[in-house]
Amino acid sequence: MKNSTKSTKFIIYIMLGMLLGGITGAIIGKEIPFIKLLGELFLNALKMMIIPLIFSSMILGVTAIGDSRKLGKMGGFTILYYLLTTFLAVTTGIILVNIIKPGVGISIKVGKNVTEHAYSFLDVIRGIIPENIIQSMSNGDILPVIFFALFFGIVINIVGEKAKPVSVFFEGVFEISLKMTHYIILFAPIGVFGLVASRLGQAGGWFAFKDELIGLGFYSVTVILGLSIHAFISLPIILWIFAKRSPIKFLKSMSDALFTAFSTASSSATLPLTMTCVEDAGVNRSTSGFVLPLGATVNMDGTALYEAVAAIFIAQLYGIEITFVQQVIIVLTATLAAIGAAGIPQAGLVTMIIVLKTVGLPIEGIGAILAIDWFLDRIRTTVNVWGDSVGSAVIDNLMKE
Ligand code: ASP
Repeated sequence: MKNSTKSTKFIIYIMLGMLLGGITGAIIGKEIPFIKLLGELFLNALKMMIIPLIFSSMILGVTAIGDSRKLGKMGGFTILYYLLTTFLAVTTGIILVNIIKPGVGISIKVGKNVTEHAYSFLDVIRGIIPENIIQSMSNGDILPVIFFALFFGIVINIVGEKAKPVSVFFEGVFEISLKMTHYIILFAPIGVFGLVASRLGQAGGWFAFKDELIGLGFYSVTVILGLSIHAFISLPIILWIFAKRSPIKFLKSMSDALFTAFSTASSSATLPLTMTCVEDAGVNRSTSGFVLPLGATVNMDGTALYEAVAAIFIAQLYGIEITFVQQVIIVLTATLAAIGAAGIPQAGLVTMIIVLKTVGLPIEGIGAILAIDWFLDRIRTTVNVWGDSVGSAVIDNLMKE
């Protein structure tokens, strides 16, 4: 199983699925219910695995680490890594948007705005401790489930001998969940085909997509260039130095997860795949079980980069001068807004309200970048998942050392 989904042949199948999906959606130019269904079945199957995987892997991670000092160290490394890499991503975006100036001298119709949701960072913090864990699980809210599992795992260690059967039970749940995910991955080429074809079809096919892309051309180029620098230069260097791994080999191991991230536009839905790919790449279970679920919800390098670029693009569009201090504030708030964004499609668009409000930019500006967001979302989600994966390898190595 491991070898069949990791083989070059299988990666080619997924790429073919994506390519065929792109061609089909581009030509047909509308949604076809049967093709859409193929994508939905795959997406549902992935989502179905999220809670069992997170819950069991977190508990397993904590009980395997055992020693609370070691756990604290891993937590510290994880948070530090997440903050530093997100900060690096935002800085890359800010530098590029200031050089390219994609919003200067163009006028764009400000389309339908996103509903103004009274969103605050405090909501995210408040949501960490669940009122009802079953409800959080059924809503698919990852952070409260992580909190509960972490607490549960720590207390298993404290209780000791009497709680041993519980940790053995969850070890079994994790093993089964991984295996189930491996079976689901076998359907990835078809699922990816369905997801890409139906989304491009929904966007109106090639001609409509081309118009959207050209209309926001420089903006899209700035976001994509920034994401590429982070994904192909910054993160590989970090991986090479701190995890002592070959970036190309690791990228290949992660390819199933990365293609799925692009097709689903959701880090959370991709999480089961990210976990299996990282496990196959030889990252220690106790590390990945802890680092990845957390990463899928709080570590979003791609989203942070995009939010910073979009905020300054909007300022340029409205001809609003942004001071250096405001740029620094954008760096900080974009980092927070990315942490607050859930790993679901276009969540970053909503949390961007935090950034715009803090520096006093018009929220209606979001309407200007809406048309192309569904596409950029896919690219930033792929970078988010890549950032989490590199993080798990880096932290694993740091813990060994
Ligand atoms: N779709 C992104 C993710 O799931 C979040 C976002 O930037 O909208 O990682």
